[in-house]
Amino acid sequence: MPYFTHAHKDHIAGLDDVRAYNYLQHIDMPVYGTSNVLEQLKVEFYYAFEKFKYPGIPQIQLVEMTDTPFVVQGIPVTPLPVLHYKLPVMGFRINDFSYITDANHIPDSTYELLKGTKVMVINALQREKHLSHFNLAEALDVAHKIGAEQTYLIHISHKLGMHKVIEKELPKSVALAYDGLSIEL
Ligand SMILES: [Zn+2]
Ligand SMILES: [Zn+2]
Repeated sequence: MPYFTHAHKDHIAGLDDVRAYNYLQHIDMPVYGTSNVLEQLKVEFYYAFEKFKYPGIPQIQLVEMTDTPFVVQGIPVTPLPVLHYKLPVMGFRINDFSYITDANHIPDSTYELLKGTKVMVINALQREKHLSHFNLAEALDVAHKIGAEQTYLIHISHKLGMHKVIEKELPKSVALAYDGLSIEL
C-alpha cells in the first residue's frame, strides 16, 4: 500500500507503474498522503485524474491523511511528522517498525511517537553536512537516541562511500539498507 512521505520527484516518479498492479488486482490502488502531497500528485500525474480515463492509465484512489493515526486493512499506521529543511514530511510507524526518509530534523513530539521502535529506518545521505538531509553522523545520533534493536540507513547517495567500507564503521545495531532487503517483523 503506497504511503507518500512527500512529493519530491524521487519519491513519486514510480506512481505510473501501479498500472501493473491495477491489471492484476482489478482495483484502484489506494495511495495515502497529506492534502498538499495529493494536490501535487494530481498535477504531476494529471492524466490519471481526468474525467475520461484513457484505457491503461494508472487507476489511483487518493486517500487524504493528516498526522492523526489511521487504520489500513486492520493495521494501525501512525504518521511521524518530521522536517526536510522547511518542508513537512511524514514518516510512518507500523507496530514496532518506523520509517523516516528525507528528514534533517525530528521534533520532540515525534521522538515520543518513536518510543519502543524495534526496527528503525532513517535517511543518511552522505558524510558532509547537507541542507535538508541527515548526514551519516547525524543519522547515527538519531539511531542512538531512538535506540531501536536494528536501524537501517536509507536514501544514501554515492558520496557516502562503498558499502563494505561504511558498514565496518557502523555500530552493531546499525546497517546500510540495500535494494531487495526484506525485513520480517
Ligand atoms: Zn525530498
Ligand atoms: Zn528524497
